[in-house]
Amino acid sequence: MLELERTILTAEMLAPDTGELISTRIEVRVDPLTGHTSRIVPSRGLMPPNEFDLEAFARENQPRCPFCPDRIERLTPRLPSAIEPAGRIARGEALLFPNLHAYSSHSCVSVYSPRLHYLPLGQFTERLMADNLAAQVGYAKAVMAAEPDARWASINANHMLPSGSSLFHPHLQGVVDCRPTTLQRLLAQVPAAHFVAYLDAERRSGERFLVREGLVEWLVSFAPIAPAELRAFVVGVSSPAELDDELIAELANGLTRALNAYAELGYESFNLAMYGAPPGTAGYPLNLRIACRSNLRPFYRSDSTFLERLHWEGAVDLAPEDVADRLRDRFRA
Ligand SMILES: [Zn+2]
Repeated sequence: MLELERTILTAEMLAPDTGELISTRIEVRVDPLTGHTSRIVPSRGLMPPNEFDLEAFARENQPRCPFCPDRIERLTPRLPSAIEPAGRIARGEALLFPNLHAYSSHSCVSVYSPRLHYLPLGQFTERLMADNLAAQVGYAKAVMAAEPDARWASINANHMLPSGSSLFHPHLQGVVDCRPTTLQRLLAQVPAAHFVAYLDAERRSGERFLVREGLVEWLVSFAPIAPAELRAFVVGVSSPAELDDELIAELANGLTRALNAYAELGYESFNLAMYGAPPGTAGYPLNLRIACRSNLRPFYRSDSTFLERLHWEGAVDLAPEDVADRLRDRFRA
């Protein structure tokens, strides 16, 4: 049986005013899949809820937005015909095209809709999410068909400036490459039995487990890299390119619940990564992480510090079990 590993550290110091002994508890947790460690510190308001007028900011930056209806056709690049003869992939309102600022040999951007320049997390719908995921899945399939060496696909999001997004207009990003990212590689090296044991342990404990919907299981990360981090696992599928419409709908359902719940907690910025391994990788469940980022406001604190960036160590003051308690209703509704 898999043991979720944690160590309690105690920091002692004398109070600046009274000189009294202060003890602070820090919990260091080990991620059961990759061995990454994460620090859970006492709640100290590191992630204040949104107070910024995002709607006014959206109006201000919209006139220059290349993803809005009157400019998207003119200002976004088109896919080579070997990948998509039409140049862009459309699913419902979603529209996918190459990333002008490529990070890989195959790097794409897909907007939820050209008309949705401003899409607060509380207004995400399953339809918008499913169509955008379907566009990304279509892209991964098309790239793999055109270029058989490109086996590593991921579907990602930087949503709002604090997450790393340079464009305000909400979108997903896809990467299909002949080599994995660091985390794709580490996850693909995890023995199949480890995934099974981790999910078993979380299901049994129930402290962080959220829901099992069809083939998709959702839980709050035991050792999060980022605040309010959730993970989902799709058993029986190893790449986004293998997702059928039913699985896309199940994933869209969970992602929409997650984003709507983040909005209720006061968060408006997030990152998403769905880590594909090569199609047909035996025992590898396609899995994703989604987490909140700091809210936008002048002189805001970034949630990504020397720990996350240079030590690869999460440090959060939102205890995963509290996050699970606050999100659980959303996932069971
Ligand atoms: Zn726009």
